[in-house]
Amino acid sequence: MPLLSVSDLKTHYKSRDGLLRAVDGVDLVVERGETVGLVGESGCGKSTLGKTVLRLVEPTAGRIAFKGEDITTRDQKSLRSVRKSIQMIFQDPYASLNPRQTIGEILEAPLIVHKAGDRARRQQVISGIVAKVGLPADSINRYPHEFSGGQRQRIGIARALLLSPELVVCDEPVSALDLSIQAQILNLLVEMKKEFGLSYLFISHDLSVVRYFADRVLVMYLGRIVESADNATLWSDPRHPYTRALMDAVPDPARPRQAAPLGGDLPSPSDIPTGCRFHTRCPLATDLCRTHEPEFRTVAPGHQVACHLASHIH
Ligand code: SF4
Ligand code: MG
Repeated sequence: MPLLSVSDLKTHYKSRDGLLRAVDGVDLVVERGETVGLVGESGCGKSTLGKTVLRLVEPTAGRIAFKGEDITTRDQKSLRSVRKSIQMIFQDPYASLNPRQTIGEILEAPLIVHKAGDRARRQQVISGIVAKVGLPADSINRYPHEFSGGQRQRIGIARALLLSPELVVCDEPVSALDLSIQAQILNLLVEMKKEFGLSYLFISHDLSVVRYFADRVLVMYLGRIVESADNATLWSDPRHPYTRALMDAVPDPARPRQAAPLGGDLPSPSDIPTGCRFHTRCPLATDLCRTHEPEFRTVAPGHQVACHLASHIH
């Protein structure tokens, strides 16, 4: 049984521009111990999908199952035990750290909410996790503004791991950091995965980060998954023109340019194109693409693509 299983998930919002179809029919599975990368341009619905999985945003339709248990419509109170097991790491940890609380107080709050032992036990858990994420022991008496960006992300990671989660949704966890710091934080996430036996849903607009990190990669475009493959296959045999365009934006001397760079703007999720939703930007689009939505088809074991031409693209 997969750790997380999402089927035909939709998260639609009403806005001034009409109905925003941010997540528009997504299926995904995260197996135990797996790191699933979710890539796509910013604005394609990745963060909304991540938050919907945690029910921080409510789905409009579809099903979310955690360890086989349907959590789609559970009320917030009975979600508490699941909340413990699914945590989120955000792009900007600073925005989610209360500037008036010490790191010790910030880390103690979730332990109190989830009744994780008495004060002495909580202090023990906190100093343990602070050491594991590579922060100095005296961090617990200091305030968020006293830390660098990378250290703040370590605090964010410590907070996510405090309650021994099984699944961590990482939403662009290194995008706000300098390159040298990015590597440190990614390495820390790899170590923590081993240490705690975690699974990750790892969201990033940066394919090179996902390439380093993921076992399997899902490519998302305008609310839908358009390609899914294991990491190596995605890089050696990308089939969707959108995947290829994203890859071409990543400098790689070993890979000659294969397709034209991605032109045009991402259409609004309130005005999703007919047929294949990528047709307005696809260099290969035909008349069929403008009228008929391609099925998400298996082109090889473990490799699915939503493109009419997927079998012809090599
Ligand atoms: Fe391009 Fe057509 Fe494939 Fe869509 S279905 S990605 S428009 S070739
Ligand atoms: Mg985002």
